[in-house]
Amino acid sequence: MKFGKTFEKELEEDEIPEEWIEKSIHYKPLKKSINRVVDEMERIGLSKHVAADPEHCHLYYEFERHGDSLEARLKFEGNSDDETESIRSERLKLASDHEFFDDLYHQYTELEQFNQSHEEELLTKIQLLSSMIKQLTDGNNKHKSDMYLWREIFNQYVDFKLDLKTHFNRKTFNQFVQHITELKLIKSFKHTKQNEKFFNKFCDLNLELIQFLKFEKLNAIAVKKIIKKFDKHTMLQSRKNLTKMVTFHESKLSTQSMEQIICTDIVRVIPQLDDYLCPICFAIAYKPVRLSCDHFFCLRCMIKLQRRGEKKCPMCRDTVVMDATEQNIDYQLMELMKHQFPDEVKSKKKLNDREVTEESLQALYGGGQCTIV
Ligand SMILES: [Zn+2]
Ligand SMILES: [Zn+2]
Repeated sequence: MKFGKTFEKELEEDEIPEEWIEKSIHYKPLKKSINRVVDEMERIGLSKHVAADPEHCHLYYEFERHGDSLEARLKFEGNSDDETESIRSERLKLASDHEFFDDLYHQYTELEQFNQSHEEELLTKIQLLSSMIKQLTDGNNKHKSDMYLWREIFNQYVDFKLDLKTHFNRKTFNQFVQHITELKLIKSFKHTKQNEKFFNKFCDLNLELIQFLKFEKLNAIAVKKIIKKFDKHTMLQSRKNLTKMVTFHESKLSTQSMEQIICTDIVRVIPQLDDYLCPICFAIAYKPVRLSCDHFFCLRCMIKLQRRGEKKCPMCRDTVVMDATEQNIDYQLMELMKHQFPDEVKSKKKLNDREVTEESLQALYGGGQCTIV
């Protein structure tokens, strides 16, 4: 399929909004203006010269920016012994090529502006949503179960993406939404209305990002293709110098970073248990003892390490274990754990209590064997 057709079809399939399409590269009209250049070259006999000796008759463009317009100058380089000399002196100016370059440059600058401002807009929306979700779930006991649900949704989001091994597109993202619906997670929210609203916002934002990235990518391809087409059909060389003039800025929202943005800005709003596990017992590191190497472990595991006389941190092998005292309990982290993982903290406490009881019994009666008869 011809690119012009594919371009239109893909914009349509992804339901790109009408006002974006207006800003996109008008591929077909540009193609028509290439035809007009070809016609003019034929009319004045230029195309014959170029076609006859493309090796030596080297006609190329130089460009210069003037405010928001682009000046194109057709240059000649080659042997001057034959009739190509006459091309240089008389026919180096075309009347129709400016239309093509002007249109392309104008469309490019408008699109570049649109992309940049839209990118900012999207980033702001992402930040806004993450702060709303954070507020809703921030260490508020009334919303405890909702916080756990959000954590589950985001876990599913990250897992789904990992399983895909590729980026989200409209289709795969809709599969994710379907999956969440099947798990009945949204319906389980205690404050259903508000959280449902946020979840819908989260989905809309993902879809808008997917659309926008596709839009940016398609347009960048369109620019490359149309320049290539110009050179191919006219046999004049513009690509080398023109590409520099119409290069799009590096998007802050490249596909990978889109997922990073969603994951860091929104998913990370709700701390994940994995980041708070004790590397020895793999349960939540409650109460956390932070060693001078900055690794933290739960108090019980630290006590056991010290009793066994193990001096090295199990994570980095620094000789720091014996220096740890009560001073090393990280109370700030402990508070965060209590707020963010109340259920996990509760069961960890129970486990600790049981261990302490067992130990005291052992100490009392020795060897763990009850001597009371
Ligand atoms: Zn532990
Ligand atoms: Zn360490």
